[in-house]
Amino acid sequence: MQRTLSEKAYKEALRYIPGGVNSPVRALRNVGAAPLFVKKADKATFTDVDGNKFIDFCLSWGVFILGHNHPAVKKAVKQAVDRGSSYGIPTLVETELARMVTEIVPSIEKVRFVSSGTEAVMSAVRVARGFTGRNILLKFDGCYHGHADHLLVSAGSGAAGLKSSSSAGVPADFVRHTLSIPFNDTEALHQAFKQYGPDIAAVILEPVAANMGVVTPPIEYLRELRQITLQYGSLLIFDEVITGFRLSLGGAQQRFDIRPDLTTFGKIIGGGYPAAAFGGRADIMAVLAPDGPVYQAGTLSGNPVAMAAGIQTLHELQQPGFYLNLETKSNQFFGELKDLIQGKDIVLNHQGSMFTLFFSDHEIRNFEDVRNSDTERFAAFYRRLLEQKIYFSPSPYEAHFISQAHTAEQLEKTLKAVKKAIVNL
Ligand code: PMP
Repeated sequence: MQRTLSEKAYKEALRYIPGGVNSPVRALRNVGAAPLFVKKADKATFTDVDGNKFIDFCLSWGVFILGHNHPAVKKAVKQAVDRGSSYGIPTLVETELARMVTEIVPSIEKVRFVSSGTEAVMSAVRVARGFTGRNILLKFDGCYHGHADHLLVSAGSGAAGLKSSSSAGVPADFVRHTLSIPFNDTEALHQAFKQYGPDIAAVILEPVAANMGVVTPPIEYLRELRQITLQYGSLLIFDEVITGFRLSLGGAQQRFDIRPDLTTFGKIIGGGYPAAAFGGRADIMAVLAPDGPVYQAGTLSGNPVAMAAGIQTLHELQQPGFYLNLETKSNQFFGELKDLIQGKDIVLNHQGSMFTLFFSDHEIRNFEDVRNSDTERFAAFYRRLLEQKIYFSPSPYEAHFISQAHTAEQLEKTLKAVKKAIVNL
């Protein structure tokens, strides 16, 4: 594969940008490869600056459930741009998207827009603490909730590769109120509540973990979380930055019929533009300024271009049969993938239209299982796929995504590439 121009672009980027990238996992170091530089993307593919065209299963980390460059979203964005791009004054589109979110997602009565998932989670946690008057946040090892100081404790995603449990530059005092326990472990959950229950402001989780690779907890575990938080007066926060509008129109909470108190969104909700959101029960959201004492703000929050992209994306997702079609296609792919990896010490975890391949000989239920999987084998597998112009999310700790735009031929081609990649691996 010709990579001259990407290599040149990387060298140039390294002169001005730390590590040459604006988000660490893009550097492809977790898979022992050099980064690609993208020229353009369309539907389920992107083309790099050397002209190589890849089938994309990263999709901007789960954003493009409709595929890249969707014509209706593009049109809505172009129309929005023609009206100016930001005012710092309320617009009708913010209310329109807020109304749509409250109508679509069962637990949302009020919602506020921000610009990134990190910001959404930071704000939701502050609201939870402000509402309950308590400090402790309970999270789970391997769940990633953005890069705010107090959330980088045993975090997944790009932080999963870090040698220490939290980032350098975070004073120990800043994570004093964060507890992280094993995911999917009822015993550890009960223990934490027994010890700290009355001080726990909120429990936050990815209802289906996607940042340690896809790990789905049993529904009983999610019910247990709902029950125990109610019992102790703690709030339950679903971080649906990935699962929102992905696992069903109403996200994981609709798929599993569990009602959290607060929810965070990102990725799909911005249709490829910087928008994210947090929302939930109206009485809880009422603590936010200007109504209440919890401060939160943003210059570009509710940006009209991002709102237009989000609104159009949700309209597309509301088309009858959207999720059924996506999941039927995904399940067929997963079925064939499972046959391929049979007996190869590779585990396929999947939920809805997202999946991860773990190089392991046992079931993957939590972060420890994930960490015990063979990341070297994954890296070798990854490079072999890349050679065949298949772009998976570039880390053993990530989810890969299927979009509406992936064609049967592209999925077939991917299966062939996987078959070739696992020979003698
Ligand atoms: N929460 C989850 C579940 C995420 O997957 C991410 C990002 N991958 C975030 C929060 C942070 O979002 P952002 O990168 O937009 O800050």
